[in-house]
Amino acid sequence: MRNYIIFGAPGAGKGTQADLIAKKYGLIHLSSGAILRHEADKNELGKKIRSYQDKGQLVPDVLIVTIMAKQISRALKSGLVLDGYPRTLRQARALDKLLKNKKTKINAVLNLRLNQVLALKRIILRGKTSGRSDDNAKTIKNRFAVYRNQTAPLLDYYRKQKKLINIDGRPEISAIFKNITSRL
Ligand code: ADP
Repeated sequence: MRNYIIFGAPGAGKGTQADLIAKKYGLIHLSSGAILRHEADKNELGKKIRSYQDKGQLVPDVLIVTIMAKQISRALKSGLVLDGYPRTLRQARALDKLLKNKKTKINAVLNLRLNQVLALKRIILRGKTSGRSDDNAKTIKNRFAVYRNQTAPLLDYYRKQKKLINIDGRPEISAIFKNITSRL
């Protein structure tokens, strides 16, 4: 069974590559952002979740850890690609604990690298069609800061576990994907 994490700043192309990886290896693509957006507006909790997303802030760990644990446990039967999760050290530790309990592990962490100028261009472009309320200049700035402060430190966590694979996020979609599959 394969379990992968796709990692990278906002706009780096995580969702696109996660989709391709999941299709090729028959895995389930779990996007925490998409799962949260699906929860949003359903009820009071959903409204709270959306208010974090709209500010570009992280949803509190306790919430997302619980939501993702349920989804991950279900997806483990076929293997998974995690996109957008974990995003904090606490989430990474919770994930390791969950997987250990289920007698499985993360095989590799793919780190899509893209500079902020290019990432910003892509998100602005996506915002025109995505309808995502957080794809606007002000929120994006916040998301980059959150990424730098809270999420980027996770790279070290996975580097120490010898799971980190750096991938150049600049080429076109199919070239990146080819690079990824050659490294897995
Ligand atoms: P991007 O990677 O482009 O920022 P996502 O769809 O992954 O987009 O995330 C959108 C928003 O959803 C984040 O800004 C955050 O509010 C929330 N979110 C997604 N994943 C997590 C997570 N693991 N922990 C906390 N909040 C999250």
